Amino acid sequence: MNKKIAVIKGDGIGPEIVTEAMKVLDRVAEVYGHSFEYEQLLMGGASIDVNGVPLTDETIERCKASDAVLMGSIGGDTNTSPWYKLPPEKRPEAGLLGIRKALGLFANLRPSVLYPQLSGACPLKEEISSKGFDMLIMRELTGGLYFGARKTEEIDGVMTAIDTLTYNENEIRRIAVKAFDVAMKRRRKVTSVDKANVLDSSRLWRKVVNEVAKDYPEVTLEHMLVDNSAMQLVKDPAQFDVMVTENMFGDILSDEASMITGSIGMLASASMNETKFGLYEPSGGSAPDIAGQNKANPIATILSAAMMLRFSFDMNAEADAVEAAVKQVLDNGIRTGDIMSEGMTLVSCSGMGDAIAAAIK
Ligand code: NAD
Repeated sequence: MNKKIAVIKGDGIGPEIVTEAMKVLDRVAEVYGHSFEYEQLLMGGASIDVNGVPLTDETIERCKASDAVLMGSIGGDTNTSPWYKLPPEKRPEAGLLGIRKALGLFANLRPSVLYPQLSGACPLKEEISSKGFDMLIMRELTGGLYFGARKTEEIDGVMTAIDTLTYNENEIRRIAVKAFDVAMKRRRKVTSVDKANVLDSSRLWRKVVNEVAKDYPEVTLEHMLVDNSAMQLVKDPAQFDVMVTENMFGDILSDEASMITGSIGMLASASMNETKFGLYEPSGGSAPDIAGQNKANPIATILSAAMMLRFSFDMNAEADAVEAAVKQVLDNGIRTGDIMSEGMTLVSCSGMGDAIAAAIK
């Protein structure tokens, strides 16, 4: 298969970690007989330096003309970088919001995996962490409270702020479909999170999710209230496969789920539109403190590339091979600085990329 991949290396550690993900993709292409064509594009600080703006129409058009986008990270040191003297709409992060909007990326997928080899980094009790877990939070990204009408005004002499939480059935249906589609490629369980005991938007959410579930008889569906979900995540994360939820609940729960793995350099993510098109990037930022030192952990970006293989290209065996290679390298005791522990072998960012690429057989 031949696929066109738009590559936005970005700022800080972005170029280092994306280079390693491309190394792994090239190895996949070699082993499985594919060809991946890369087009390098500018966004964020790197684009400001060249074009004066964090995102150009050209970058958007080239991304749209590709099969998927692989991204590093955007932004610099917010205290010292000249990019942060610009008005907010011209800063690096504005490019991130702009591209998500331009590409219609409404579904945010964040896997949260605790590898048994790294269970020492998990802040949960050993009896919970020793079981490991492998879940994915599917967060609605373009609706709800963060996008509803808002105002602050004086009502009867009292300052009052109003935010509105709106979802229509179409917005709920498309994210639910995405969640069930992804569950079909995993352990076939969906937990839909809402606050249906209080909110109208949640009652509609639950009704539409139930309707969508009828098209997926192989998938087990459960509904869980958001407060209970926050508790269950720290009590028994292994019970979850795919968790689907609206924008604000997803914002909070996905951070909780990522923290219980304990390692930011391991967390992949994807944002998708209604088709198989997606933008794949690590959950962490540009880590200016270690940029340019060949020290960053490229695994989150490599696992994001594996998500691209699975969800945008339907290359399941290839994605499995990348994930297995990551586990194998961890089993062999190879570690970057952020996940280093006693008795393990410390490698650089490129050393980790080499080891994972070599483990793909
Ligand atoms: P950060 O995620 O960049 O860094 C937090 C800490 O985690 C740092 O100590 C860093 O060294 C470490 N870290 C992050 N990724 C790592 C990796 N792959 N390997 C090893 N260590 C890693 O968060 P921050 O410092 O708050 O933000 C720095 C910049 O990144 C800011 O400009 C911020 O706006 C931007 N940012 C961008 C994105 C994105 O591109 N999607 C996301 C978050 C933050």
